[in-house]
Amino acid sequence: MLPPIASRFVAGESPESAIDHARELNQRNVSVILNLLGEHYDEREPAEADAAAYRDLVDRIDEAGLSACISIKPSQLGLDLGGDAFRELVTDIVDHAAARDVFVWIDMEDHTTTDVTLDVYEDLARKHDGGVGVCVQANLERTREDIERLADVPGKVRFVKGAYDEPKSIAHKEKSRVDEAYRDLLAYAFEHFEGGIAVGSHDPAMIDYATDLHDEYGTDFEIQMLMGVREDAQYDLVDRGYEVWQYAPYGDKWFSYFYRRVRERKENLLFALRAVLGR
Ligand code: FAD
Repeated sequence: MLPPIASRFVAGESPESAIDHARELNQRNVSVILNLLGEHYDEREPAEADAAAYRDLVDRIDEAGLSACISIKPSQLGLDLGGDAFRELVTDIVDHAAARDVFVWIDMEDHTTTDVTLDVYEDLARKHDGGVGVCVQANLERTREDIERLADVPGKVRFVKGAYDEPKSIAHKEKSRVDEAYRDLLAYAFEHFEGGIAVGSHDPAMIDYATDLHDEYGTDFEIQMLMGVREDAQYDLVDRGYEVWQYAPYGDKWFSYFYRRVRERKENLLFALRAVLGR
């Protein structure tokens, strides 16, 4: 069972609880990106089971008429199995979701997965003329070239700073350098993309920069933040008229996700404890 301390960051263990969470947030005009926790499967069976769970989740989102979508992880859907498993499983999900008008995001994992993730994303986005998005990471030096390639693909792109500890031969390691790269990517996207920009960051400076770019170029964008992180800011941004999506993971594999949130920021444990203690 999900302990109360983790429920600040995880929308329960079942699809029912995830849908309930989305319904509650929709009432506050925040849209929701649901992610079934799971990654790095080295057998086909759990990958197929999660693919089926995602198709079922898409049906639930559609039936409930929610402002919600899904976000999947490549290594959860067969990437580590080699061959065509990843492409097949993701294609099944995206085809299923497109028929129900539910959007599918593809998370980005470490740099060894970037090429295949972008290739599969591009093929599916062109096949469905949108309906799918991919994440790109500012800490990777290659990303500037990648977004030039993605500029005319009919999907969405989520810009994040990057969560993986990458080798220094291919990645910016200093926080200030990652921030600078993030700004450069946003500037390029607001100038050259027709829309479909997602600012996946909790950083007030990056969000202010994006709103300034929006004022300058008029390009549509959305802001994405994690469940349990700066939620007051999420509601505040909605009140200011911005489109906000909350990324909410769920499922029984919650422990390592919760542990990561606490490890990256010790205050998160304090916040979670306060939520449990009701102060
Ligand atoms: P940071 O650079 O960590 O912090 C900058 C400032 O933001 C802080 O000084 C503070 O003011 C504020 N802030 C940050 N965190 C908190 C907090 N917990 N509480 C209060 N204030 C805070 N990474 C990937 O590699 N692949 C993905 O597919 C991916 N998907 C993501 C999807 C979403 C919706 C989000 C929000 C992030 C995703 N990430 C992904 C993670 C991302 O790469 C970063 O590791 C993470 O978002 C931290 O960077 P940041 O821009 O939020 O801010």
